[in-house]
Amino acid sequence: MAGQLIGKPFRVVVLSGPSGTGKTTIVERLIHDSPVRLVKCVSATTRPPRPGEAHGISYYFLTHEDFTSRRLAGEFLETAEVFAAGYWYGTLKSELERARNEGGWAFLEIDVQGALRVMEQYPSAITIFLEPPSIEVCEQRLRSRGTDSEETIQRRLKKVQDELQLADRYRHRVVNDDLEQAIGTINQILLNQSE
Ligand code: ADP
Ligand code: 5GP
Repeated sequence: MAGQLIGKPFRVVVLSGPSGTGKTTIVERLIHDSPVRLVKCVSATTRPPRPGEAHGISYYFLTHEDFTSRRLAGEFLETAEVFAAGYWYGTLKSELERARNEGGWAFLEIDVQGALRVMEQYPSAITIFLEPPSIEVCEQRLRSRGTDSEETIQRRLKKVQDELQLADRYRHRVVNDDLEQAIGTINQILLNQSE
């Protein structure tokens, strides 16, 4: 059961890491089990939904036109074209407001480019970089997930080195080798910040 944050100041939490590291798996667990109340900010994207993904839950799936007009209207905290595949992703400012209104900390699972923009705007953000034990393990996990084509996997793996080079810009680095241990470490980071 997620914990409460009555009387605690609003915080922004950012989790990033290479594709296949385990971010989605960990976010799901943290949202339900963290001792700190976290509200996942639902990102907007122009990529098509994967099987099982629902609009408004996994992402807000927008057309390029809609995404662009919202960007021009200043509705995003940050946007990024993540895998140079022509698909855009972005954090809507309204999602941070939703988290604040729901009395939780805003939890953003976004890429490194977006995270750098958030750090500029929220210097006190709790930033966590999730690392795979190795690039080989990252590749194995991407394949075992079974959701991506070979071309997509190759594009995602190409980005891993660039992402790892930015890991030291984050306040915290956590290796996702043993899942339970990684979740425990992140929960401890959050608890330390809530005192
Ligand atoms: P990401 O969101 O970072 O791309 P996912 O959460 O989709 O990664 O995880 C990729 C795959 O790796 C999934 O099949 C997931 O079940 C698996 N996985 C996640 N964490 C671990 C772990 N610690 N050990 C083994 N497999 C893991
Ligand atoms: P996927 O297509 O696998 O859902 O996500 C691909 C990548 O996009 C992940 O690295 C994820 O962190 C990133 N991402 C998801 N939402 C956002 C967002 O709102 N902004 C940015 N900059 N990246 C995002």
